[in-house]
Amino acid sequence: MQRVILKDKTFVPYITSDKILESVKHMAQKINLDLEKEMPLFLVILNGSFMFAADLLKEVTIPCEISFIKLASYHGTSSTGTVTEMIGLTEEIKGRTVVVVEDIVDTGVTLEKLAILLAKKEVKQMKVASFLLKPDAYKKSIVVDYVGMEIPNAFVVGYGLDYDGLGRNMKDIFVLDK
Ligand code: 5GP
Repeated sequence: MQRVILKDKTFVPYITSDKILESVKHMAQKINLDLEKEMPLFLVILNGSFMFAADLLKEVTIPCEISFIKLASYHGTSSTGTVTEMIGLTEEIKGRTVVVVEDIVDTGVTLEKLAILLAKKEVKQMKVASFLLKPDAYKKSIVVDYVGMEIPNAFVVGYGLDYDGLGRNMKDIFVLDK
């Protein structure tokens, strides 16, 4: 794998597509076992989660529904700490088991905002499936039930994650070169 340049930054190979898919399969297997009787609603957080969600949900074999919501908390390479809901929820989710599908959990601000939103809608329970988790940056207490991989505090792109709009289409994950 080659390093990639996106605008003013250079990124180096970090997690290969093969490793990603292996770990996504494991996540789906756990979800299939845990939520078999729940008929969960998977709530995919756009934009970054689209690739992960597609891979995950191809491996989820239990009866389920899938919906999408768009939030934003990032500008450039650091979190702004505020979250804006851009596309709202239209489904009736009261009493449902909702599985939030996130690309990455960093500070947890986005997750907390979602937890409040879902609690207001009186869901039965919220589960969280995030492909990546940065444990050193995570400041919240909400449990991330399904994690693909834990990574240190670094800025990554690819597999749906972007740097200023670029890099989302790469099937491998790259990390910012120091
Ligand atoms: P949090 O609210 O947990 O701080 O951040 C969550 C959102 O920030 C993620 O859904 C993602 O869009 C963005 N984000 C966090 N860390 C990274 C990263 O390393 N790379 C990219 N491209 N986006 C990130």
